[in-house]
Amino acid sequence: MVDQSAPESDLKKLFYSRPRIFADYLLTSGRLAVILLDAAGTILDCNAFFLENAGLSKKPVGRSINSFLRDGQAAAKTCRAGDCLPVKLTFDLSASLEHSLSGHLLEIDGRYVIFAHTVRLTDNELVTTLSRLTDELTDLTRELNKKNRELAAANETITRLMKTDPLTGLANRRHLSELLERELSQARRHGRPLAALMADIDHFKFINDTYGHNTGDKVLQQAAEILRDSCRTEDIVARYGGEEFFVILPNSGAAAAADCAERMRKAIAGASFTGIDRFISASFGATVFIPADTEEDFIKRADAALYEAKATGRNRVVVKAAADLPPKADQEA
Ligand code: GH3
Ligand code: MG
Ligand code: MG
Repeated sequence: MVDQSAPESDLKKLFYSRPRIFADYLLTSGRLAVILLDAAGTILDCNAFFLENAGLSKKPVGRSINSFLRDGQAAAKTCRAGDCLPVKLTFDLSASLEHSLSGHLLEIDGRYVIFAHTVRLTDNELVTTLSRLTDELTDLTRELNKKNRELAAANETITRLMKTDPLTGLANRRHLSELLERELSQARRHGRPLAALMADIDHFKFINDTYGHNTGDKVLQQAAEILRDSCRTEDIVARYGGEEFFVILPNSGAAAAADCAERMRKAIAGASFTGIDRFISASFGATVFIPADTEEDFIKRADAALYEAKATGRNRVVVKAAADLPPKADQEA
């Protein structure tokens, strides 16, 4: 039989005489996890090997040791001071699927030190771990899908808000410009007719001054609704500015535009507006697209028609074709 007492006692002597060397080794490069706990099982410190195996980048100081232990094992406190009991503590570690840490607990002056070494998981444990991780992954995927759906809905809301005038719910001016660009290019490419209306509520300043800004807002909302209800679904009604509206009428010529504007004019003049005890009207300028038009030309012509409707008495529709206007400055030369 081999007598191990001599080398063991030499090692022991060496340990006792140069404890720093052994401690440093254990805390920096040793392949043994070392964790210091208080009496309640709260982690006070740990070494690099534990961090590496727990997949942590910084020490989990303040966290309960129980959160690392498999299946609710509590950190045992059954050992007497100075004992080093083989209390089986199996750690659930995120860093490795194939091994876990199994440990011993040592009480020193009312605090606890865990020493834990790596153990290979049995096939059964591996299957259990894998199935738990699969469940976790399923939960995370479900959560991620839910968050993605929420994000998509939030993006949709943002996009809608960016395109919409908050008071009337109509397309705002920025969105109008995008829609108009699309309609102009369709009309150009396919040679389809396209018309537009510019509408402006008459003496709106007087309404604001007489009934207040809030009532004025309600008039704008109601007028927007009337304009929307007076045209086809393919027509686009936008709020152009304060009390001005722009209507795009795809596949419409001058006669259809004049009809639509007249229908809108009558609907506004015939409506009773909430909180208003007097007649409200709007003026309309209509025009049709010609292939030489830029977006600006097209809008300007509708605006010029509106101006004429205002100048000639309001509550009326004026249709202006390209030929009714003086030629553009660069065409005059
Ligand atoms: P006209 O018949 O020539 O169009 O006269 P008007 O009084 O309608 O036109 P004017 O441009 O002098 O006044 C428009 C008013 O619309 C002035 C402005 O304070 C008001 N306004 C602009 N935006 C809003 C809004 O969002 N809410 C309310 N209540 N008023 C607005
Ligand atoms: Mg006005
Ligand atoms: Mg105006």
